[in-house]
Amino acid sequence: MQHDAKLSPATLAAQGTGATPMPHRDIVPPIHLATTFERAEDGSLPGGRIYARDASPAYDPAEALLCELEGGARAALFASGMAAASAVLLALKPGARIVAPHDMYWSLRNWMIGFAANWQIALDFYADAAELAALLQRPADLVWVETPANPTWEILDIARAAELAHAAGARLVVDSTVPTPVFTRPLALGADVVMHSATKYLNGHSDVVAGVLVTRAEDDFWARIKTARAAGGAVLGPFEAWLLNRGLRTLFPRVRTAAASALRIAQHFEHHPALLAVLYPGLPSHRGHDIACRQMEGGFGAMLSLRVRGGEDAARRVAGAVKIFRRATSLGSVESLIEHRGPIEGPGTRCPLDLLRLSVGIEDSDDLIADLEQALQQANEP
Ligand SMILES: *Cc1c(COP(=O)(O)O)cnc(C)c1O
Repeated sequence: MQHDAKLSPATLAAQGTGATPMPHRDIVPPIHLATTFERAEDGSLPGGRIYARDASPAYDPAEALLCELEGGARAALFASGMAAASAVLLALKPGARIVAPHDMYWSLRNWMIGFAANWQIALDFYADAAELAALLQRPADLVWVETPANPTWEILDIARAAELAHAAGARLVVDSTVPTPVFTRPLALGADVVMHSATKYLNGHSDVVAGVLVTRAEDDFWARIKTARAAGGAVLGPFEAWLLNRGLRTLFPRVRTAAASALRIAQHFEHHPALLAVLYPGLPSHRGHDIACRQMEGGFGAMLSLRVRGGEDAARRVAGAVKIFRRATSLGSVESLIEHRGPIEGPGTRCPLDLLRLSVGIEDSDDLIADLEQALQQANEP
């Protein structure tokens, strides 16, 4: 059923692992809508399924492919990235200790703080690798990593974080939404679980909300995660699962094109007089560049941020003046998005208020550069 394991991930993605649905030998999988599955006369389950909330065949193609792309033992789709992350938190036991980054996806950070407070879970935040090492002098249960991290694209050394986490008795979970399996494979670097908001690059077309977890080992922690999905009920619909599987087929060309454009844009604007800084791990001036070169393969992702000279108002004017970039939250789709991020995150944000977050899509990079040039110029006119 499966292709030879030596095939490149890009080939596997293009063919959706190459599994051929019987009996029609469809080139694309059918949409599986069944919620329940028939028992045989003796009460057994010849189809191997009981009920779609526990395990729907609609998930098989995308879960099989994501397992291969991440090099994991098992994958599980969820109704959103947040549902996937919540399942990890729900798999913890009372009294557990989480160590998480200050800079990470804002909604998840806020949810983690509330969850930890309500469920007697200790939560400590680290700003960098040195603080992570210091916090892991004491035992912990879960270390959360996001790299490159929203919205400044700080880089954390996953292999080092895995060593530290394991020495402290903790599991390492990596939110790998931004680099995607095209550029980073956290499990191969020592992580225990990889999480994605599949709403972003994996689906890639701004038309599905979904999430996924991939585990290195099918252990008791994974069993608790699967229970959190089945019992918590945060399951994806069959049509969304089908769309996600379709989006995954073009993952590699989409993400590679977008990342090549992002690098061009970052290089073009790095010393622009209207900007204080361009934050992109692919630039040698970025703090995390050396580690990024080691742990990201083939590219640095398609997310970057611009810090605009003149503060919050100037940033707002630039965002208001773009014509090709679309003003919207989210990331990872074929169309380029721009967001004046600080005001969106609101009180307590660590995001600089002059920061514009760009999600570079697959448009012609000359058009994107020209658009930003005219917006910076227009924003600076008296
Ligand atoms: C969007 C996002 C999430 C949350 O995922 P949803 O699919 O919106 O629930 C988590 N982490 C990162 C890095 C994201 O970009």
